[in-house]
Amino acid sequence: MSHWQELEHRYFMPTVERTPVTLVRGQGVRVWDDAGREYLDFVGGWAVDSLGHCHPVVAQAVIEQVQTLIHTSNQFYTIPQIRLAELLVKNSCLDKVFFGNSGTEANEGAVKLARRYGKRYLDGAYEVVTAYASFHGRTLAMVAASGQAKFQEPYIPLPVGFINVEYNNVEAIKAATTSQTCAVMLEPLQGEGGVNVPSKGYLAAVRDWCEQAGILFILDEIQTGLGRTGTLFAYEQYGVEPDIMTLAKGLASGLPIGTLLAKDRASVFTPGEHGSTFGGNPVACAAGYATLKFIIENDIAGNARRVGEHLLSGLGKLKEKFSFITDVRGRGLLAAMEFSSEIAQSVVTACLDRGLLVNKLKPNALRFMPPLVVSSREVDEAIGILDKALSSVSS
Ligand SMILES: *Cc1c(COP(=O)(O)O)cnc(C)c1O
Repeated sequence: MSHWQELEHRYFMPTVERTPVTLVRGQGVRVWDDAGREYLDFVGGWAVDSLGHCHPVVAQAVIEQVQTLIHTSNQFYTIPQIRLAELLVKNSCLDKVFFGNSGTEANEGAVKLARRYGKRYLDGAYEVVTAYASFHGRTLAMVAASGQAKFQEPYIPLPVGFINVEYNNVEAIKAATTSQTCAVMLEPLQGEGGVNVPSKGYLAAVRDWCEQAGILFILDEIQTGLGRTGTLFAYEQYGVEPDIMTLAKGLASGLPIGTLLAKDRASVFTPGEHGSTFGGNPVACAAGYATLKFIIENDIAGNARRVGEHLLSGLGKLKEKFSFITDVRGRGLLAAMEFSSEIAQSVVTACLDRGLLVNKLKPNALRFMPPLVVSSREVDEAIGILDKALSSVSS
């Protein structure tokens, strides 16, 4: 274990099993460790580094902003947050924006907004229906929203107001809807919970049910949004529009930001009902504006779609070659590979040894979420390394 890793073990709460590498520098789709070794990065900061590491457009925007104005509080108008809000609204189906600092915080805001709507229009309804295997964040309320026992069990009792039901099953949502329900909250495609792709018609059926029941349809696009799945927002591929949407990960190239967006009719906060000290911070918003503008002007979503198809086909070929690969799935540049046994950690290590960073999704599955600017050649390189790593693990 290196010097830095020993220090980490001494000073940190052990909340995460880190891959034993200390990264010190990044450029494009590559990062370097403290010994100067180079890696191809298919973790991408957990789907955050959309434009790759240290993209010059983002770096320049951040440098200019930190030399101009770093923070003021939301007591005052500041320009970067207004420019970013306008760009988000003009390129989505939503009308109003609120900025926080993380995905979890954006989802908390979404649920508060839905409860506010319930108080105003639905006789005080406050329950939110969410799906098993979902992931909505780490606060107590978002742990209750995330339908996964491993996140919930250590913290029971959890806040009330969340009903977890089976994913891909609109009947389960209908059965869970009562006069207390104010919203349904889903990831269009479940990320952390397994890269689970919705079956045909599911999201549209949920959307129709929400309309029929008079409740809000919330999409958590924190992982799927901003080009990741091959369109700017995943909802575009499923013919649905949410009343409320949350974004975070890929928005500001790694600066902390979380965004809650709503249609006008669902935008029911009044002054003082929600807030944030750092949310809408000029530096994060300047990075967000530079990132989003680049994504839109250069059709980065289109690159994610094309290169994502190439990635899925490469992973599919590996599935034909190795019988212990049981499934390959995903959309755009969000993909997973599942194994018949719990070998994911060994594969992560074998890839690391060969210069490729990948994410362990579950004990028996890997997730791939490279920067959206990755090329087909870089995907070929990654597939080549993965092929060798899989051979080494199977023999
Ligand atoms: C990562 C993620 C979150 C939580 O975001 P944080 O920034 O870690 O708080 C919420 N929802 C989804 C779908 C995510 O992928």
